[in-house]
Amino acid sequence: MLLLLDKNITSDHRRTLDEAIHGAGCTITETPTRQGLLLLIDGDLDHLRQVPLKIFDGVTKVVPLSGAYSLGSLEHQAEPTVVKVGDTHIGGGGFVVIGGPCAVEDESTLREIAIQVKTSGATILRGGAYKPRTSPYSFRGLGLDGLLMLRDIGQETGLATVSEVCDPRHIEACISNLDMLQVGTRNMSNFDLLIEIGKSGHPVLLKRGRSATINDWLNAAEYILAQGNPNVVLCERGVRGFDTATRNTLDLAAIPAVRERSHLPILIDPSHATGKASYVPPMAKAACAAGADGVIIEVHCNPQAALSDAEQALEPSDFRDLCEDLRLLETVRGSRTQS
Ligand code: PEP
Ligand code: MN
Repeated sequence: MLLLLDKNITSDHRRTLDEAIHGAGCTITETPTRQGLLLLIDGDLDHLRQVPLKIFDGVTKVVPLSGAYSLGSLEHQAEPTVVKVGDTHIGGGGFVVIGGPCAVEDESTLREIAIQVKTSGATILRGGAYKPRTSPYSFRGLGLDGLLMLRDIGQETGLATVSEVCDPRHIEACISNLDMLQVGTRNMSNFDLLIEIGKSGHPVLLKRGRSATINDWLNAAEYILAQGNPNVVLCERGVRGFDTATRNTLDLAAIPAVRERSHLPILIDPSHATGKASYVPPMAKAACAAGADGVIIEVHCNPQAALSDAEQALEPSDFRDLCEDLRLLETVRGSRTQS
């Protein structure tokens, strides 16, 4: 069960409430939110349900939890969440572009790509340092060295940074060197990882599991939110389909479906969704038109030589053209929402 408290609850009212909850044999875990303190109540809930918590002074809302997501729901928060990553705000109306290589390969390649994506209008640099690969024999990233390169080049170019974390043991290093953590599709249901990221409070890009329903995905987000980390951005990156013409099947309907259910921002990753560079610009533009909060796109100065996901990397010139189109589309979208 969740209780939302009035921001101005008096200490007397708070004490009375705590006594009632503890008296029913339940425990309280506190999470600060923008609307006020949120209490997650666990224990003998059947007993507690007999206590009329709704009418206690200082209690704004009582949400019975039935295993479904709740903190991420519109019922809990009507206004859109805005997540700050470096100087970039994700959510609440703008359109954010994240660009960079699939993997951090070496410093000079990363620098060249970073300069190109920044000039085109990206504000966040992506690049995998810990790469989960389908085959154990593929390039699995530079690890900590890659993180440090990303940090240095990000600082040099004035770009915020995002990179994937796969292992709870790497969270600390990722937090101290990155502006945003990414949870990849293969780890969306790694609940221990989500809990640790939740405790960190760091901004997180939560990719949709490739066989996950929207409900599974929002519940994964709930694991992070329930630890008191409100900085969750969702990312649709295609789900497993039956067609081999594209790497995955991009579910653009996830944008309105998430909007109807949640206040969390949603980005689209057309690179992993399609697996083919020429399919990326049309899908990125469709994402913008459909109301996404931004896109994350793989870019490489020499795609043929990329150590991972070479077929889906955009050349910098194609990325620049795409960013121009996206700016135009964003203007149209903006004037529409204001009218
Ligand atoms: C990535 O962004 O490089 C990546 C591996 O993405 P996903 O988890 O969506 O496959
Ligand atoms: Mn990739």
